[in-house]
Amino acid sequence: MEFRYLGDSGLKISEITYGNWLTHGSQIENEQAQRCVRKALDLGISTFDTADVYANTKAETVLGEALKGERRESLEIFTKVYWPTGPAGHNDCGLSRKHIMESIDGSLRRLQTDYVDLYQAHRYDAETPLEETMQAFADVVRAGKALYIGVSEWTADQIRAGHALAKDLGVRLVSSQPQYSMLWRVIEDEVVPTCEELGLSQIVWSPMAQGVLSGKYKPGQQPAEGTRAAHSEVGGSMGDFMQDDILAAVQKLVPIAADAGLSMPSLAIAWVLQNDNVTAALVGASRPEQLEENVKAVGVRLDPEIMRRVDEALGDVVQR
Ligand code: NDP
Repeated sequence: MEFRYLGDSGLKISEITYGNWLTHGSQIENEQAQRCVRKALDLGISTFDTADVYANTKAETVLGEALKGERRESLEIFTKVYWPTGPAGHNDCGLSRKHIMESIDGSLRRLQTDYVDLYQAHRYDAETPLEETMQAFADVVRAGKALYIGVSEWTADQIRAGHALAKDLGVRLVSSQPQYSMLWRVIEDEVVPTCEELGLSQIVWSPMAQGVLSGKYKPGQQPAEGTRAAHSEVGGSMGDFMQDDILAAVQKLVPIAADAGLSMPSLAIAWVLQNDNVTAALVGASRPEQLEENVKAVGVRLDPEIMRRVDEALGDVVQR
């Protein structure tokens, strides 16, 4: 495994990070989740990402159980706050001081840890004054419940404002967690340059477009049993990608991956790690073998001709 600094902080995280959205507590059984976490650890993955809202808090519980007994100093555990986690009361959502203070305690309890390494605002809350949010995050850090703070899916302007307030409060906003893959490049024009300027880096989610960039979904065919797209509860999240023109374009990547000496999954992950502002590819896995495959992207540098051919193959199905 290789490790990269998170923004301009001194925290190193594994460049492949394992996240448990849609899997732990929902798509896969607990035993399989435990096996995936064990495999991740065996492969040198030290960084784990979850959120209070994943499977309505169950994902944090499953991850806490799976990591129990591991040396805490050898792990980086990330979670998030914003969305309601069950039947929502009027204050059970957003980034108010009340919701942040209550959520962090619930997350720590479920994760069975005294602190998380990174506490992230899962979305921007336009209803709560940003000053209140950043003050609450700063207090969470001062209480020792989180070491660093980050955001997810914030715009460049929101990141700039949050970063300035955090700095005034003496805490570090070190990361942004956006969606990023060969198919979804929305952050490239504004978020990445702003983060480079301010010293934040990206931990990018769905680098494999939820499995689509593995090439296993073919245009005009039903998804195979056992895949996310075929799963009745979680498959609906893939609507952006499960379209025939996109699936056909992805098939054009097959010879390019072969010429690069890579599998399709490792091409997809190596591609996001090629961006110098990306600290980690935040991957999901429903079975341990997928993680074995996906870590093959570690340390790969793609040559410019491969990058050019990827752009040519995907053409205008890329979301920018
Ligand atoms: P990926 O794009 O890595 O998709 C993971 C899924 O793809 C797996 O669950 C598996 O699904 C399939 N897959 C993985 N490896 C392979 C392989 N080698 N061959 C074939 N199929 C494979 O990421 P996710 O969409 O799961 O997101 C990763 C993490 O990002 C989340 O767990 C979460 O931590 C974070 N996230 C953050 C969000 C935010 O708003 N901040 C939003 C969404 C995610 P299957 O086997 O079931 O087909």
